[in-house]
Amino acid sequence: MIPAAFDYVRPGTVDEAVRALADAGDEAKVLAGGQSLLPMLRLRLAFPELVVDAGRLPELRGVREDGNALVIGAMTTHHDVVHDPLVRRHAALLAQATRTVADPAVRHRGTLGGSLAHADPAGDLPAVVLALDGELTAAGPRGRRTIPARDFFSDYLQTALEPDELLVEVRVPKLEGWGTHYEKFQLSAQAWAVVGVSAAVRREDGHIAEARIGLTNMGPTPLRAEAAEAALAGAEAVPGAVGRATASAAEGARPTSDVSASAEYRTHLARVLTRRAVLAAAGTP
Ligand SMILES: Cc1cc2nc3c(=O)[nH]c(=O)nc-3n(C[C@H](O)[C@H](O)[C@H](O)COP(=O)(O)OP(=O)(O)OC[C@H]3O[C@@H](n4cnc5c(N)ncnc54)[C@H](O)[C@@H]3O)c2cc1C
Repeated sequence: MIPAAFDYVRPGTVDEAVRALADAGDEAKVLAGGQSLLPMLRLRLAFPELVVDAGRLPELRGVREDGNALVIGAMTTHHDVVHDPLVRRHAALLAQATRTVADPAVRHRGTLGGSLAHADPAGDLPAVVLALDGELTAAGPRGRRTIPARDFFSDYLQTALEPDELLVEVRVPKLEGWGTHYEKFQLSAQAWAVVGVSAAVRREDGHIAEARIGLTNMGPTPLRAEAAEAALAGAEAVPGAVGRATASAAEGARPTSDVSASAEYRTHLARVLTRRAVLAAAGTP
C-alpha cells in the first residue's frame, strides 16, 4: 500500500497555495488532515502529481465572529471545533455532531474543511452545515467566491470546488432562539453513521415555527428533508404531531443497501431519528 509518486509543496500563504494548485491544473490535491486523502493515496484511489499541504496556513485555522455569523477556518481541526467556546455557544449542533466523528486521534488531525471537501455521504458534518444553511468560501486564481451549502455537494465525493480552488472558510449563522440536536445511528462506538440526522428547530408558543433537517447517508450527497421541514412548520411541538410530520423524512432520499444496512432499514432509521432529533431540538421531553 505505497502511494504512487507525487511532488509535494507546503505553501506559507493562501495565495501561494492557490498558485500551486493553478499551476498543476487538474493534477493536484490539497492535503488537510490526511485522514481521508492518505488512505486514498495508499489504495491508489487517488494519484495526484502534486500534493499541496495546507498544514502551514495559520490563516485557515480558528473561529471568529462576523456579525450574525461564525466563520470557521477550513483547517480548524475537529478537536478544536468541539472545544471552541464560540462554536459551543452559537453553533452547538456542529459541536455535538463533530464530537461523534471517529476517535480522538482522527479528531486531532481531521479538519472541518477536509470533511466538507471530501463530501463523503456518510460523513457527519456535511449534513450539519447543510441544515445550518451554511456557506463555504473558496479561493482560486479568479479570486474568492461564496458557495451556499445547498449548492456545494454535487454528487458522491464531488463538490462545487474547482480543482484549482482551496476551501478557505465555512460560515454558519448564529442560531439565536433555535434548539438543535444531532442523532447518529452507528453499529459500534466511534463508527461512521449508518444514518445521521441534524435538526434545528425554532419554537413559538408551543409550536414549531420553522425546522431545518439535514440527513447523513441517505443518498450520494447529504440532503435536506424538505417534505418533513414543510410538514413541521406550524405543527404542535408534541410527540404525536412531530411523529406524523416526520413520517415524510426520507421523501426524495436515495439510500443505498450495503453491509451496514439495507435501503429499507435506512429509510426506517431516517424517520425514527428525525422524530427524535426534532423533539430533542424542540426541547420536548
Ligand atoms: C478511522 C476513521 C474514522 C472516521 N470516522 C468518521 C466519522 O465517524 N464521521 C465523519 O464525519 N468522518 C469520519 N472520518 C473522516 C474524518 O472526518 C476526516 O477528517 C475527513 O473525512 C477528512 O478531513 P481531513 O482534514 O483529514 O482531509 P484530507 O484527508 O486531508 O482531505 C480529504 C479530501 O478533501 C480535500 N481537501 C481537504 N481540505 C481541502 C481544502 N481546504 N480545500 C480543498 N480541498 C480540500 C483533499 O484534497 C481530499 O480530496 C473518519 C476517518 C478515519 C480515518
